[in-house]
Amino acid sequence: MTTPVTRLLVTGGAGFIGSHYVRTLLGLSGPGHLEVTVLDRLTYAGNPANLDPVRGHPGFAFVHGDIRDADLVDKLVSEHDGIVHFAAESHVDRSILGAAEFVRTNVLGTQTLLDAALRHRVPRFVHISTDEVYGSIETGSWTEDEPVRPNSPYAASKASSDLIALAYHRTHGLDVRVTRCSNNYGPYHFPEKAVPLFITRLLEGGRVPLYGDGSHVRDWLHVDDHVRAIELVRTRGRAGEVYNVGGGTELSNRELTGALLDACGADWSRVDHVEDRKGHDRRYSVDWAKIRDELGYRPARDFATGLAETVAWYRENRSWWRPLLSRAAL
Ligand code: NAD
Repeated sequence: MTTPVTRLLVTGGAGFIGSHYVRTLLGLSGPGHLEVTVLDRLTYAGNPANLDPVRGHPGFAFVHGDIRDADLVDKLVSEHDGIVHFAAESHVDRSILGAAEFVRTNVLGTQTLLDAALRHRVPRFVHISTDEVYGSIETGSWTEDEPVRPNSPYAASKASSDLIALAYHRTHGLDVRVTRCSNNYGPYHFPEKAVPLFITRLLEGGRVPLYGDGSHVRDWLHVDDHVRAIELVRTRGRAGEVYNVGGGTELSNRELTGALLDACGADWSRVDHVEDRKGHDRRYSVDWAKIRDELGYRPARDFATGLAETVAWYRENRSWWRPLLSRAAL
């Protein structure tokens, strides 16, 4: 018996994590019975080159468009069996400079997709969220039962979209699943977030900024592990559930900076200590026992190896990131 083809609509598939997801699904070790349509507005963070490795794949299609375009979304959703929703404004610093686009895309865009999913009774909607919705935690880790207490406008817009997505499950019975992951790193990461910003600046002989006293703590998750977790949730998770996804490597920003300096062959003389980010959350930490116990997830990528490979990727792919540097400037 042949497995029926599943047609997935992947929003934000030209961004960092979404494109990794699409390249993985349509790659040699992918499941093989999937067709993928990427819907992406190609904002400053979206990059068609991220999808070059799958462009010739017979199961791949790209639509340049906005998740807030209700007519376009309605048509696309009607043609698919599942939605994996990555599209978002994703950079905290930009949300501090101006929150409007974050609310429009992350909240209204998500609701536009959910409405279409409901109209067409799409069998599955995976909403990609973040650990930042929980707020900041000094010690211990958040389970999925923790109420959301977001601090930045970015996190607040993501928390709002999580709540709307879960409300469509509770109110309408739509099969919605939410993932909340920690900080991702890996190749094809737009050079505005800490890891790719530091790597690209260090490789160019430049300087890097360390916010405040550098004691802020994040849990680092390789994008390979994140994508594997999303697939576990999509294929074997339960409707209406939230799944935390952790990486297992907690580092202060100072420790991360040290690791990046080492990996790039630089020293602390290249670091500028800059004023802290407004409202900077001190620590994020998710308890990911639920996805481990229910779905068998475990982060497989060792941080030191993953970081060394990421630096090597940026060394070898300057033609990918050099044109992006002017777009990354705030
Ligand atoms: P990204 O900024 O690299 O990519 C976002 C993509 O969404 C881009 O391709 C952009 O063009 C597209 N997009 C933005 N607005 C759109 C719109 N209105 N219509 C259609 N497409 C639009 O982001 P990322 O780092 O890949 O993050 C993907 C998802 O994962 C986001 O929802 C983010 O909140 C979440 N997340 C990211 C991290 C991380 O460490 N990067 C951590 C936790 C959660």
